Amino acid sequence: MQQKELISGLNLLSNADMVLVNSPLRDYGQRPKDDYEVLPPMGLAYIATHAAQHGHNVGLIDAEHHGLEQARLASMVNNLNPRYVGINVFTPTRTQALRFAEQLTPDLLLIIGGPHATTLTERTLREFSEVHSKVILIRSEAEIAVTALLDGKRAEQIPGAFWLENGRLSYTPGLSVPNNLDELPQLSRKFLANDPSVDRHTGRIESRVLTSRGCPFNCTICAGARDVLDLPVRNRNAQNVAQEIQGLVTDDNVQSIRFVDDLFIASEKRVRSILDAMNNVGISNLFWDSTGRASILAKFSPDLFDYLKANGASEIALGIESRSERLRKRINKQASLLEIEKSVNELTRRGIKVKGYFVIGIPTETRAETLSTLDFAKQLSQDHVGFFRSSVFIFRPYPATGEWNYLVKSGFSEDELLSMHAEGEGERAKHEVLPTQQFGECSPEELEGLLSQHDMWQTNFLH
Ligand code: SF4
Repeated sequence: MQQKELISGLNLLSNADMVLVNSPLRDYGQRPKDDYEVLPPMGLAYIATHAAQHGHNVGLIDAEHHGLEQARLASMVNNLNPRYVGINVFTPTRTQALRFAEQLTPDLLLIIGGPHATTLTERTLREFSEVHSKVILIRSEAEIAVTALLDGKRAEQIPGAFWLENGRLSYTPGLSVPNNLDELPQLSRKFLANDPSVDRHTGRIESRVLTSRGCPFNCTICAGARDVLDLPVRNRNAQNVAQEIQGLVTDDNVQSIRFVDDLFIASEKRVRSILDAMNNVGISNLFWDSTGRASILAKFSPDLFDYLKANGASEIALGIESRSERLRKRINKQASLLEIEKSVNELTRRGIKVKGYFVIGIPTETRAETLSTLDFAKQLSQDHVGFFRSSVFIFRPYPATGEWNYLVKSGFSEDELLSMHAEGEGERAKHEVLPTQQFGECSPEELEGLLSQHDMWQTNFLH
């Protein structure tokens, strides 16, 4: 692919004000990217949209989607010589983001942000400052702060900006997050390489839409939990959401929307307001997928499930996590088994698919609990053939979550916990990341073996 096709949204005829990079999970120069779908970097695209609205020339390179090798990525950015380079740092992409920073021309100004930078602020700033000389870290949502930097403000004038001064941590107190999401410009998809795109399972043209930021819940395994982000939930006005979707349908022939909110079905009132607003602007025959929560769905009336189906609900993702009541309580997923089963039944019997997320290897998990969770994922697939699929993950701690804090108190070092997000080598590099620490009764090797067996079973079962 030519260089200009790899940079979304940038006007190549004038100097670049900023190049944003969606960090790759691995260096794809060493091993090509496997064929998996990458969610578009919505946060970076919102930053680019906001900056562009203020007259800045911004481009976005989705290095993960394109499967770019590090050397090419760094040389592209260095050649563009923008006023600022921005990169998002997630805990799983931290290592590659650091490698990228290391290869930047020394006088380029680097802005780092994202969930990992927000939760392990000082450590992350110091790590990046060791490999690159000019680094500013922006905590939390960054569109307002980044535009302010591009407008010429100094970090000292921007709440939520952190930097090192002669090795000493300096920062401007507060955050620069938008309180009213409706005041943000509508997301410009010219910055996204794969949105809209054709969904590989359904063949429909799909676009992703964010209707809210934040989650009211506090699951102890989740990097998006309320206490981790420390921000209130902010909803976009339903009419504003409907306008965005109407534009996607009219201009891009979009047939399906994936609501990528942390929790889209947060209440009956909220979901009704969005679907009603879509109806009011004449949107029909549109499918949608979203996230939901069993404890909320189980309280919905049969009429409401009918309404979801009649208004395009196609697949709902539920974080079921564990069959063990003890563990679900521990991680603050307080749906009962009855509520989980009721939600799955009510959805699937109407032809709405369910994607169930499960986690094994949670701290204190016994072997019996691990096996029971895997059995539960199997059982739900067998009970709802064609309408239930499971995604099982091995537990990995994310900074500032309840489980991370518990593990640190139990004696694990930050390095040990971060090693759970490191890449494997050789044969073991087939997996994106490897479990390295043991938090429950099963060893990392045992969990890996059980997960492979489950994945193989699911592949054979579904085909
Ligand atoms: S797992 Fe889901 S419901 Fe729980 S805190 Fe995270 S986003 Fe919210």
